[in-house]
Amino acid sequence: MDGGDPTKTHLVLVPLMEQGHMIPMADLALLLATRGARVSFITTPVNARRLRATADRAVEAGLPLRLVELPFPCAEAGLPQGCENVDLVPSLDLFHSFFHCLYLLAGPLKQFLLQNVEPRNSPTCIIADQCLPWTATVAAELSIPRLIFHGPSCFFLLCTLLVTRHKLHEKVADEDEIFAVPELSQTIQVNKRQSLRFFQWPGFEDFLCQIETADDTADGFVLNTFYEMEPWCIDDYRSAVGKEVWPIGPVSLCHKDANSKAVRGNGDAAVDHGGVIEWLDAREPRSVLFVSFGSVASTSPQQLMEIGAALEATGWPFVWAVKTAEQSSEVEEWATEFKQRNQGRGMVMKGWVQQLLILSHPALGGFMTHCGWNSTLEAVAAGVPMVTWPHFADQFLNEKLVVEVLRTGVAVRVKPPEVYQAGELVEREVVERAMERVMGGGEEGEEMRVRARELGEKAMKAVEEGGSSYDSLGKLISRASELSRISAWEPGFS
Ligand code: UDP
Repeated sequence: MDGGDPTKTHLVLVPLMEQGHMIPMADLALLLATRGARVSFITTPVNARRLRATADRAVEAGLPLRLVELPFPCAEAGLPQGCENVDLVPSLDLFHSFFHCLYLLAGPLKQFLLQNVEPRNSPTCIIADQCLPWTATVAAELSIPRLIFHGPSCFFLLCTLLVTRHKLHEKVADEDEIFAVPELSQTIQVNKRQSLRFFQWPGFEDFLCQIETADDTADGFVLNTFYEMEPWCIDDYRSAVGKEVWPIGPVSLCHKDANSKAVRGNGDAAVDHGGVIEWLDAREPRSVLFVSFGSVASTSPQQLMEIGAALEATGWPFVWAVKTAEQSSEVEEWATEFKQRNQGRGMVMKGWVQQLLILSHPALGGFMTHCGWNSTLEAVAAGVPMVTWPHFADQFLNEKLVVEVLRTGVAVRVKPPEVYQAGELVEREVVERAMERVMGGGEEGEEMRVRARELGEKAMKAVEEGGSSYDSLGKLISRASELSRISAWEPGFS
């Protein structure tokens, strides 16, 4: 049976065009291709440019991976030209149009699948992001098996599933009422805003229904996590959904060398801003605090200044990533003086930074993060403790996992804002206190750092040959092959 021969497996990966979803799926593509499966990675021209360097390296290394560019019809959806990734959507008003535009990829995707029916190329299985429910229709029409790639932590998936099943949001009096997530092995208390599912937002009701249906009809779920980190969540989630679940992460650990880390996710923008790596090379081990809030969350000028003041007050060396969109004349003026005062002690980097390279540097001592799942897991994999500052979506539950379950982080303690609203201003003293507990923090800090290091070691083991995620990935490839034989999608289908 060819379930044992991955080279006969052709997996078609369809990512959501958002950095926090596309990057881990590109890592998954590398992992699958490294194990011998042939991989077609569906993308669009702008995103292909970001991924080209990674894909070229894979092809040079002889991996069976290709990027498949489909046109992204921005004009048809009322989007500016080239607006092909969530981080390029210029305003919240256009968020709907962006998701509408994604639906327009269904036709070209079907076309691509139909063109690939000759025996060697016949797609075995689609692995699609959960946020692309329309892929369920495409797969069903062609009788191709379909797995879902889930972006967030298993802890988030499990908690939100249980809260939904028990209809707890309908039972609470207001947004701030605290309640316990039912059926969990550990008491976890949340409020309504902290326990919303993806797209459980006004204006996305139909879309959420489609996601639920696509989840129900999927052949299994692929998760970027590892068993040793959230064992009871994975066990409970598996029985709650009654489907196969493959934890195959941390996928970022597929990048072993510096060049591979440097071009990951945005090869186009991969420059070593001002020699940050050399700068880190000259710092003491575990002495530097890295501050970055991912690819989407934005920080107001006032909040940037409070963070800056906290960094100055702690006295720890720092690397701080500030988004290009956060620049304004007010910020520029303040930043010039800030940089002068902190010359030699800190680096402020504008735009895209090489996060994996920075996080895995031995000088890193802590990471102040917005708790996007990738950033969180990348810190776990690097054995780095976190200062947690969630902004929206799954980030609040990811924070709970880090602070209350894994105990490898300290919360700034921000209140979840209303959907579509910015968070409240957090004062410098509050930020400073959380930073200090992670970077120093006496015995409590030391214990947390030991836990973070040990968890990082477990993450490494999970992806090594014989590790839990390594084995899970092998099982996933075999299962995809079996599913394709069960389904009507066979070479020669027309
Ligand atoms: N990232 C990066 N450089 C940046 C910003 C983000 O490499 O300047 C990467 C980061 O390593 C992670 C992804 O982009 O892999 C962001 O995903 P995450 O889930 O952390 O947050 P999101 O951007 O989706 O909010």
